[in-house]
Amino acid sequence: MATKTVEIKEPPSQRSGAETLKQHIWDVLKPTPEQWNDWKWHFRNRFNTVEKLARVYPLTPTQKRQLELVSVKYPFSITPYYLSLVRPNDPNDPILMQSLPSFEELLHADMGEEDPLHEQDDSAVPGLVHRYPDRALFVITDICPLLCRHCTRKREWDGGNWWFRKTPQLQAALDYLAKTPAIRDVIISGGDPLTMDNEGLEWILSRLRAIPHIEMIRFGTRFPVVLPQRIDEGFTSICDKYGPIWLNTHFNHPNEVTPEAGRAARELLRAGVPVNNQSVLLRGINDSVEVYTKLVHELLKIRVRPYYLFHADQVRGTEHLRTPVETGLKIIEALRGHTSGLGVPTFVVDVPGGGGKIPLQPNYVLSWAEDEIVLRNFEWKIFHYRNPRPTDHKGTAKSAPKPVAKTGARNHASGHGQKQVPVRPLF
Ligand SMILES: *Cc1c(COP(=O)(O)O)cnc(C)c1O
Repeated sequence: MATKTVEIKEPPSQRSGAETLKQHIWDVLKPTPEQWNDWKWHFRNRFNTVEKLARVYPLTPTQKRQLELVSVKYPFSITPYYLSLVRPNDPNDPILMQSLPSFEELLHADMGEEDPLHEQDDSAVPGLVHRYPDRALFVITDICPLLCRHCTRKREWDGGNWWFRKTPQLQAALDYLAKTPAIRDVIISGGDPLTMDNEGLEWILSRLRAIPHIEMIRFGTRFPVVLPQRIDEGFTSICDKYGPIWLNTHFNHPNEVTPEAGRAARELLRAGVPVNNQSVLLRGINDSVEVYTKLVHELLKIRVRPYYLFHADQVRGTEHLRTPVETGLKIIEALRGHTSGLGVPTFVVDVPGGGGKIPLQPNYVLSWAEDEIVLRNFEWKIFHYRNPRPTDHKGTAKSAPKPVAKTGARNHASGHGQKQVPVRPLF
């Protein structure tokens, strides 16, 4: 998208715009520096009514009316920290587009589903989705500090009736995990599981750790992005104590990769917690090669590994943020080979009906014969690759072995002036 290209090429001076909004938020809320660094302060002061938001963010009367209307069905909640990253005067600001309700959420109400991933049907016990053979998703709350406009679990935003799972329900899920030895990987999710305090999380972690077949525990949380102050000493020390723990987070745009987010990643890594990123492909937010490349570069700088790029699920109320599937393939094509392989996520479509994640990637295979595969590389150079047969080396191959000269990779694409690849005997 042309507008996004312009955004990432902005001169540094324009970044001071964000400073102005941050300053304004400070002037209105008057936090002490300690409060600004305290996640509970941000949580208490999150903007979740039009009135509160209007105190710090300029809203036109029309915007206010639309916000009132949309938030009846789809409420909103923005942390002061996350709002401070918005550059004022840009209605297409990527931070704003992910957090501020849009009237479009009410349009296209005929498209999408409430629960496209059929998580409710795949729940073994309330709060536990056991879809894949050896891992389970453990949903401990539906509370989030920030309500992402593209949320897959938008159906759970039922009029502010937020819950933490009660101890007996948590215990029932733990009992299921304990009696299911196939599960070796548990993903603690939500909502955002880190809205639970460290004491509550320790209660869960210590019980999970007491189950011998649970090898790894992961958190799925957006706190490092929307409220990185949450990654405090108490949290990293329980991660260290009950490790190995992994953490998957959800950065979607380079503007989210701030010094605060970098600090959170560093503290997690210090505690032995690898941080991986699961982003969602969002129209007008990160659906250009320029923005996405910049995102993965910024993530690698803070040592966060891009893990998945999700095609946006067909969730009701999010259609305006979805892109064609081809957009994801185009981004992967532009990354692979062109930049650090560590920066290339797996592009997945989570198919409706509980089919799970299906990886898609650009096609590098041009033809496939039993003994030779024709491949193309990231520059569209074409190569023949000998496909070893299990019986080749025994001299008992069904078909006669090919001469060595024909077995190496050789360049097939003529007329492009590429260098010939030397023919190299493979054995
Ligand atoms: C995504 C997901 C997982 C984890 O999948 P990985 O590919 O191992 O990261 C597990 N359970 C459910 C229900 C999921 O949606």
